[in-house]
Amino acid sequence: MNNHVTFLEIDGKSLKYNLDYFKNKIENDTKILLVVKAFGYGCDAIKIAKYLENDIDYFAVAYTDEGITLRKAGIKKPILVFHPQIPNLYLLIAHQLEPTLYSFKILNAFLEIADSKLLLNYPIHIKLNTGLNRIGFSHNDVPMILSNLTANSHVKIASLFSHLAASEDLEEKEFTTNQINNFAVIVKQFYKHLTYRPLVHILNTSGVVNYPQAQFDMVRLGIGLYGFGNDKKETNQLKNVVSLKSIISQIHTIQPGESIGYNRAFTSNKLMRTATVPIGHADGISRKLGNTNHTVMVNGKKAPIIGNVCMDMIMIDVTNIDCNETDEVIIFNSQEMLLEMATKAETISYEILTGFSNRIKRLLKY
Ligand SMILES: *Cc1c(COP(=O)(O)O)cnc(C)c1O
Repeated sequence: MNNHVTFLEIDGKSLKYNLDYFKNKIENDTKILLVVKAFGYGCDAIKIAKYLENDIDYFAVAYTDEGITLRKAGIKKPILVFHPQIPNLYLLIAHQLEPTLYSFKILNAFLEIADSKLLLNYPIHIKLNTGLNRIGFSHNDVPMILSNLTANSHVKIASLFSHLAASEDLEEKEFTTNQINNFAVIVKQFYKHLTYRPLVHILNTSGVVNYPQAQFDMVRLGIGLYGFGNDKKETNQLKNVVSLKSIISQIHTIQPGESIGYNRAFTSNKLMRTATVPIGHADGISRKLGNTNHTVMVNGKKAPIIGNVCMDMIMIDVTNIDCNETDEVIIFNSQEMLLEMATKAETISYEILTGFSNRIKRLLKY
């Protein structure tokens, strides 16, 4: 456990707390799909999927190989792949992953394979574009989809879904309500022609918070599980899941006039003490955080990052902090600290979480 020094600590109890928080916002019979794409929002998809498999109904990943990784780790629950690629469809089937079909190109490619492999009722998911304009069939495509699928016993529509463009933004309420209403109209069209009822879902985390009336049969929970809500108020209701910790590798005494780091970006005008920490921009610490734009915590005190962020290390000012080599350095251990880091790096929580390199170890604590 101590052979690495920079690690992301994932708090399992907080994961369960946050999951329950969202369960309490939806009906008892609404299913939960847990989104564990992008390495589980940077938190280790395998560990999280194993830990929560019995508490949820479905998993989703973005790409086929992410789903294969989960299957190889022994995950048995259904796994929806949001954006499978045509060349991966054989592999997808071999690992019992469920494809999102979002255009006639990929629908027909899948149907051809399903036919040649004599699949029976293989679960597929139809993605409708209702305004995000990213991937999805349009409303006009529905009759053609139905004529391709109603008499086809090789596949069965496990779900119909769409994705909101601005569920977090209440100023876009009219647009979002329109998306939801149009989606409901399309769903009715499917219901009219199918002899069975696919699951229906459109809400992501902020959708659950802002539009619970549109929960249909299932909601897709991502960022909220990891402790981040729509806004400060919502985030405060959630528990912090992720902490990023490192240690002091070396302490230097710096004389007035000496410089620190690459390009001599910082020059000291006084006698000072600096500490070197083994985490850098290759690990997800933006270069925008350097040059005293951001601080980390050492023994309860704020230590500014000085000079440029290096690929593998940062140097921090510990002149006024009582500390020694091997002491702990906390990059963040609260949502507030991560959000401050995101603001300073001119980005959002999602990008911070998913941007940590895989040389940072993830430890799930529970
Ligand atoms: C990533 C993603 C989600 C999860 O969104 P959060 O805002 O993290 O809850 C849900 N649905 C789709 C289609 C996604 O791509």
